Amino acid sequence: MENIPANIVQRDPDQKEFLQAVSELLETVKPVLDRNPEYRSQAIIERITEPERAIIFRVPWMDDQGRVQVNRGFRVEMNSAIGPYKGGLRFHPSVTLSIIKFLAFEQVFKNSLTTLQMGGGKGGADFDPKGRSDAEVMRFCQAFMTELSRHIGPNTDVPAGDIGVGAREIGYLFGMYKKIRNEFTGVITGKGLNWGGSLIRPQATGYGAVYFTAEMLAENGESLEGKNCLLSGSGNVAQYTAEKILHLGGRVLTLSDSSGYIYDEEGIDAEKLRHIMQLKNVRRTRIREYCEKYSHAVYTEVSPELDYNPLWNHKADCAMPCATQNEINEQDAQHLLKNGAGLVCEGANMPCTPDAVDIFRENNILYGPGKAANAGGVAVSGLEMSQNSMRLAWSEDEVDKHLRRIMKSIHTTCIDAAQEYGLQKNYLAGANIAGFVKVVNAMLDQGLV
Ligand code: GLU
Repeated sequence: MENIPANIVQRDPDQKEFLQAVSELLETVKPVLDRNPEYRSQAIIERITEPERAIIFRVPWMDDQGRVQVNRGFRVEMNSAIGPYKGGLRFHPSVTLSIIKFLAFEQVFKNSLTTLQMGGGKGGADFDPKGRSDAEVMRFCQAFMTELSRHIGPNTDVPAGDIGVGAREIGYLFGMYKKIRNEFTGVITGKGLNWGGSLIRPQATGYGAVYFTAEMLAENGESLEGKNCLLSGSGNVAQYTAEKILHLGGRVLTLSDSSGYIYDEEGIDAEKLRHIMQLKNVRRTRIREYCEKYSHAVYTEVSPELDYNPLWNHKADCAMPCATQNEINEQDAQHLLKNGAGLVCEGANMPCTPDAVDIFRENNILYGPGKAANAGGVAVSGLEMSQNSMRLAWSEDEVDKHLRRIMKSIHTTCIDAAQEYGLQKNYLAGANIAGFVKVVNAMLDQGLV
């Protein structure tokens, strides 16, 4: 954190995740600041770390027992220099202003890398959808949108899903927006196919992360064929990461939820993955139930008190964290190293701590940072916005082609930006530098606003 200007830390000393994301960016863009003195004289770091707007609101709703519940809602509109604010909504009990600010900050640079015109934002609530009935989730979403609808719009701010916000929640949120505003517009992405959604959007984050991984491997004359992969998470990102790894001939050994993980040494194949999708998306149950059907697989409970996650302590070639922030720490990174992993690519946002990333870099483990690797989701959200504006729907093949092209372009952009600053194969530096320069130059072009 020493690299963050003191006034930024002093303003929000408790926002640990936000300061972590800022620190990681500043560390890698220092050579850019040194080469462009006007960035400092124009106080770009102070400006880019301060949200254009942060909205915090009360979300009152009634549970099935008729009790009044109150949650806290957020929308952080971080930067609109290159397009309307764009980014998901997260419903999870861990949500705080710091978490939403870190996600919004990352989103700015991620969206910049996609080549599309999208600024960065993020929102959510400390609501826990786990164990809630459909009716409760609907009432919560309606209450949340009652306030959020004042702040968003198809040319202003376009939310989407994230942890705890999937197809069901997007439906309820969109329905309420439409009712309040009497307007059918592309105000939210991740919509259902019959009402303005895009093909491939549900798959996009996972597929995109694997396309990015495949590009990283190809750069080193390798492929995913026959590679053993450790995956965390079992939600949207993890499911489609697993599916695309299987398409490309790789093997998936693990998946997890917040209670523990499954290890299937025979590999989680397409049929087993279908079963997991049924468990998670339809029955909304826990990953441990996988072992009831596939009894050779091992379920391990992971206590939050443990200072490492045994999931990362298995022999494998690749690791793709697809759960949440800070899920791979220094010890986990040591375990991956010891077990021979040659690549770590992030499906989640900021899943590796800075200490873990240092270990990857020191030991030549290829590291694909989330803001580049998981940009496929928001990229296809951008394509959904284009289709909505044209009132057209593209074919699956067409959207997938765009996604592959965008992931390839992000990969090349990272390589080129890193090379320009003499930081070969440093994807973190490449992603941060390229994402940052585009946004900063747009800000400077538009004056002090
Ligand atoms: N929540 C996703 C992300 O972290 C997607 C955001 C979007 O589609 O707007 O990028």
